Amino acid sequence: MTSSPASSSDFSTLPLPAHVLANLQQLGYLSMTPIQAASLPVALLGKDLIAQAKTGSGKTAAFALALLANLNARRFAVQAMVLCPTRELADQVATEIRRLARAEENIKVVTLCGGVPLRNQVASLQNGAHIVVGTPGRIMDHLERETLDIDTLNTLVLDEADRMLDMGFYNDIATVAKQCPDERQTLLFSATYPEGIAKISQQFMKEPQTITVQAQHEKSKIRQRWYEVPESDHDEARLNAVALLLNHYRPASTLAFCNTKSQCRALVAYLKNKGFSALALYGELEQRERDQVLVQFSNRSCSVLVATDVARAGWIFRSWRW
Ligand code: ADP
Ligand code: MG
Repeated sequence: MTSSPASSSDFSTLPLPAHVLANLQQLGYLSMTPIQAASLPVALLGKDLIAQAKTGSGKTAAFALALLANLNARRFAVQAMVLCPTRELADQVATEIRRLARAEENIKVVTLCGGVPLRNQVASLQNGAHIVVGTPGRIMDHLERETLDIDTLNTLVLDEADRMLDMGFYNDIATVAKQCPDERQTLLFSATYPEGIAKISQQFMKEPQTITVQAQHEKSKIRQRWYEVPESDHDEARLNAVALLLNHYRPASTLAFCNTKSQCRALVAYLKNKGFSALALYGELEQRERDQVLVQFSNRSCSVLVATDVARAGWIFRSWRW
């Protein structure tokens, strides 16, 4: 039998039990992604962590393996809690945790999100949960009603923290975090690093290590161009410049930003009139409407998405299933 030296991206370099390593192999996780390689050694020491890496970089497994390492399956009590911005993300996280936990005996993961009756969730909690994954609002509901007991919690995860802040969950996160036992590990995962994150970490984390894995763009793949279109009495000249550029470059998908909602609408109306499939996205739309717009953009039935707020670009891309 030959053995090759373990590289630093081998899961086997981590202090994980053999059955966990075998399960990772079965899942096809043959080596760690960069954010996993950077964050797992720290997280598995029980330290608080702020980890930042782009969408799709494997952040879920990075915190899931850490919270599972803290877990005692024979203890029938909630030991880990993951806060997520939306129900869809909570479902994805719960699925990934279950996959990673399947090598262990019967670990129960319960999702707690709005939009479904409380009583089913209460029943699941009464049946025993080791890990809860949910949105801050619904978790707060359960804490207020005392249907969720987190006195035995040892790991708190804030997933997609930037998006939770973007959605106005700061106070909810604070309310939940204050009720967690002081003796705990707190892991914060995010694709970007807006201001609010420093505030969360100061208030709710203990000497967190910050780990950032920058997205590697192949330089040759991104070309930036700048066109100056003079201000004029005729907005039409500016709108037409956009249409001309789209006709010239013919991109399959375009994300355009405007300062205001009315500019967004004007551009969308203009482009539609010119035969483009364009849709507007702005803060005042309801979540359901925004989701519909993003679905149409991601399935390419809409080719130009015109949005108001550059700061939201991050979550537009994250919501976009490539
Ligand atoms: P993020 O939360 O950073 O957006 P995810 O945790 O959702 O990313 O992971 C993206 C995808 O990569 C998932 O399908 C996951 O199963 C897969 N994945 C994660 N870690 C590994 C790994 N080490 N090897 C192979 N695939 C992985
Ligand atoms: Mg994620």
